[in-house]
Formats: sequence, C-alpha cells, structure tokens
Amino acid sequence: MDGHDLYTPADFTNEEMESSSTARLVVLGGLGICKKCGAGEAQLDKHPTCESFKADKVRERVIEYLRGTADTLSAALIAFDAEDLEDDTEFLARLDGEIFNCSQCGWWCEIDEEASDDIDSDELVCVDCASEAEGVGA
Ligand SMILES: [Zn+2]
Ligand SMILES: [Zn+2]
Repeated sequence: MDGHDLYTPADFTNEEMESSSTARLVVLGGLGICKKCGAGEAQLDKHPTCESFKADKVRERVIEYLRGTADTLSAALIAFDAEDLEDDTEFLARLDGEIFNCSQCGWWCEIDEEASDDIDSDELVCVDCASEAEGVGA
C-alpha cells in the first residue's frame, strides 16, 4: 500500500512530452519513476516504499549539508526537522562512514582526511590539524 506508484506513458500528454524531462525519461527512456516520491530505477530497488526513499533523502541532505561546515549535528538535524535521526544508528553509521567532525577545528571533513593515527590521537582529527600538531610537537 505504501509501495511506489510508477508513471506510465499514458500519464503524460503530448504537451508534457515537450516540456517535462520526467515524461521523456519515462516514455522515451523507458525508465521507472515514482509519481509520489520521485525515486527512479536503482532507488526503487533500494527503497521499497516512498517513505523509505524520502527518509533516505533527508539523511543524504543532512550529510551534504554538514560536509565542509563547522555546524553541529544537532543544529543540522533541527534545520532539516529530522531530530530523531540523532538516535538513528543506521544514519549515524552512514554519517561516520562519510564524514567526521574534527575534534580540533570542529569542521566536518571527508572520512579519508581523518589523521588521528598519524599523531597517535584518540580523537578524530583532520589532516590539517594533525600536521599542525606534528609541527608543534617536533
Ligand atoms: Zn515512491
Ligand atoms: Zn581539524
């Protein structure tokens, strides 16, 4: 009942074929796109329902939003009206897999810029802060 509701070529008028890229993707490209949530193709396989797709989109946006800022996670979640994600382990694991909050400068950096091992730190530190710490120590 909450499953996706896919467009069919009959959903589009000739006019829409001219103006809508969704119409062209469905009719000419033969792609499956959901009317309700906008999920398409691989996203449909990954998310069985519109709710699941929409929730996923919010998660993605929160991560995109934090990337390259020094905002706190809770501020971002409030901004997206998604405060319950703060206790969502699946979301937190995904966040941890992509970006981290540097304990020194407070910026969110790509997870591959994490350099705590380089300076033997127990806290997550970005490469910039790690090289600074190294410079001071040496
Ligand atoms: Zn849908
Ligand atoms: Zn840093």
